[in-house]
Amino acid sequence: MKYVVIGGDAAGMSAAMQIIRNDKQAEVITLEKGSIYSYAQCGLPYIIGGHIPSTDDLIARKRETFQEKYGIDARIYHEVTKIDPKTKTVYGQKRDSNVPFDIQYDKLLIATGAEPLLPKWEGSKLNGIHTIKTIPDLHSLIEDIGTSKKEVAIIGGGYIGLEMAENFHDAGHHVTIIEQAPQLATVFDADMAEHIHNKAKEKNITLYLNESVQAFTGEETVHEVITDKRSIRAEIVIVAVGVKPNTQLVEQTGIHLSSNGAIIVNAQMETNIKDIYAAGDCATQYHRIKQKNDYIPLGTHANKQGRIAGLTMAGVHRTFQGVVGTAIIKFFDLTLARTGISEKEAEALRFPYHTIKAELPHIAAYYPTPEPMQVKLMYEAETNQLLGGQIIGKLGVDKRIDVLATALYHHMTIQDLEDLDLAYAPPYNMVWDPIQQTARRREH
Ligand code: FAD
Repeated sequence: MKYVVIGGDAAGMSAAMQIIRNDKQAEVITLEKGSIYSYAQCGLPYIIGGHIPSTDDLIARKRETFQEKYGIDARIYHEVTKIDPKTKTVYGQKRDSNVPFDIQYDKLLIATGAEPLLPKWEGSKLNGIHTIKTIPDLHSLIEDIGTSKKEVAIIGGGYIGLEMAENFHDAGHHVTIIEQAPQLATVFDADMAEHIHNKAKEKNITLYLNESVQAFTGEETVHEVITDKRSIRAEIVIVAVGVKPNTQLVEQTGIHLSSNGAIIVNAQMETNIKDIYAAGDCATQYHRIKQKNDYIPLGTHANKQGRIAGLTMAGVHRTFQGVVGTAIIKFFDLTLARTGISEKEAEALRFPYHTIKAELPHIAAYYPTPEPMQVKLMYEAETNQLLGGQIIGKLGVDKRIDVLATALYHHMTIQDLEDLDLAYAPPYNMVWDPIQQTARRREH
């Protein structure tokens, strides 16, 4: 069986590894348009802050390892531009030589990820304006930063914007964040986002909310960001306003796409065309709480979907169980975490819901250095089923959000949360865990 995988990162290579493990006769060809395989984009911001020494540290497995140790024909500079499902052939061009290629497949995985959006603002081709996605993107940014401290403008206050802001700040640069929404981190409710705004102000980050970028000015290099309200001096600009799935190559294949262009897949990562699969940032993810397909492009989903795709392609039946909307972000000494749906999402879905909020210490208040934790829970008004949770604090946030994510995965109620047998000793918790204490404050 000849398997072709387009895309050599999280989803693509998770799949390729499952194929070679489960089909000993497999011929696996992976086609990557860049030159680097399997690297952790999630670590890129921390290079800027000096917390991770080198982009080499982000490479999980080198191309040579896939080739020599696992027998995968891992090709570089192979950009696929067209798929013909009738002849089961992919077509493309080698980026280093412009030589065209075509390769036939028995089973094909599309794992092409997503591209950062760069709106067509006037001046957006000026030097110093960057999006962050790949290791070469980061190297080009580092070159532009040089050795002096810079005025950095970050457009977009989502998780990449926040991580870049923190890391530029840590490296001694002055940071301005421009966000068109009324709050940073729009996956959080407005009341929770206030804690993020306060932290940004404490760190002397300039925030312009409710403000949209119109253009950039400068000679060769960017000098100012022009918004609908002001002009802001900037020597480096990071545009982090979202991503779009890389699915241009499926045009004219008949593969069904969602409204944002992501490939619609079922729980086995199959598309509507026989023997073509998709996984990761180029595909949809089934949301267990919303009970419909969603688009949440995260590495954690790409790895899981890639694994399921590889297993399915190799004939092993496994099901992608879906996501519940869990995410975690470090923002200076705060951890921002959420799972399930937000108030805005519940309103859009017309779920009748209640919320409960509490500020609680993360461990026994009498034990040294308890830190306050902001907890917000959301549950369905009629069934009491948990809908979501958001937690912000300095310590202990990660373990609570994962308990909540597990509860949501299993469609537990707010009452079930109270009944969980969670670990307690004073250095680790209170007798009633903060999420349980919050749950107990609900109206009966
Ligand atoms: P990608 O990693 O985008 O890989 C797709 C590959 O396909 C690329 O190598 C690309 O070159 C190749 N390709 C594309 N088109 C073609 C073509 N036509 N022909 C051949 N090859 C092609 N996620 C988290 O869960 N937690 C985090 O903390 C986190 N932090 C992040 C921080 C940053 C700065 C960034 C950029 C992303 C972060 N992510 C995080 C998201 C995560 O990195 C992605 O969700 C994940 O990489 C998606 O994996 P993928 O394999 O689907 O796509």
